[in-house]
Amino acid sequence: MLELRDLVKRYRVGEGEPIRAVDGVSLNVGNGELLALYGPSGSGKSTLLDLVAALLKPDSGEVLFDGLEISALSEEGAARYRLHDLGFVSQQADLLPGALVIENAALKLWLSDPRRAQARVRPLLERLGLGDRLKQRAEQLSAGERQRLTIALALSTDPRLVLADEPTGSLDSKRGREVLGLLREVCKERGVAMLLATHDPQAAAFADRVFELRDGRLRPYEPAAVAPGARAVGGAGAVGVAGSAGPAGVAGSARAAAGAS
Ligand code: ADP
Ligand code: MG
Repeated sequence: MLELRDLVKRYRVGEGEPIRAVDGVSLNVGNGELLALYGPSGSGKSTLLDLVAALLKPDSGEVLFDGLEISALSEEGAARYRLHDLGFVSQQADLLPGALVIENAALKLWLSDPRRAQARVRPLLERLGLGDRLKQRAEQLSAGERQRLTIALALSTDPRLVLADEPTGSLDSKRGREVLGLLREVCKERGVAMLLATHDPQAAAFADRVFELRDGRLRPYEPAAVAPGARAVGGAGAVGVAGSAGPAGVAGSARAAAGAS
């Protein structure tokens, strides 16, 4: 569904060598697949997501969405792609203050289907546990509820792909786990693929596959410490190892906790 081919993005600042924020990244994401991009601050995660969102143009390489070359789209084509095919969940919930919860969640649908936008997004808000908050103002929600509201907005247009950039960065670890568990569940139910950028090993654990990003270069995540006799979890391509201390080690338990297979 999504294919990245040898993507390169450099930033030029001043006279010195350009920063190679994304340095030759190739990757395939299948339908409904949850993939984590795990790496420290400055490793290129947000730049990579911006390339996928056609918010940035690569210096070289390609982003293909169902075979369509995203970097070749016009401004208008890119805007349509972002509106219909993508959903975004970021660290800061970008909500419209003063507007009701249901109005916030309906914002994207309102652009294409204003009369039915609220009715269409309502079941999703209920699924996300916000059914009794619909008529409250967005700023009255707790941090965890706000993130659930941004998930509703992101999924409202039935996108094929969600780009989540540090979606739990503003939450404590318990709320973070709840939000990620829910995000994973809802994406799996609807067959939505997700690219989850995070520096948090606990967050990476909610993905089907984990890749590590370092200085703009991508490699499969290798758990540092594998306990003797540890049992591999997941199918082909899964990097999870039960009993390890790293992200993939948490994966099994996180998925078990979320009730997913
Ligand atoms: P992450 O999201 O993993 O923290 P970023 O993609 O934001 O990483 O940044 C990757 C590298 O590119 C960093 O060295 C960062 O300083 C640099 N960078 C990001 N955005 C810009 C920009 N607009 N101009 C110049 N350098 C940038
Ligand atoms: Mg970032």
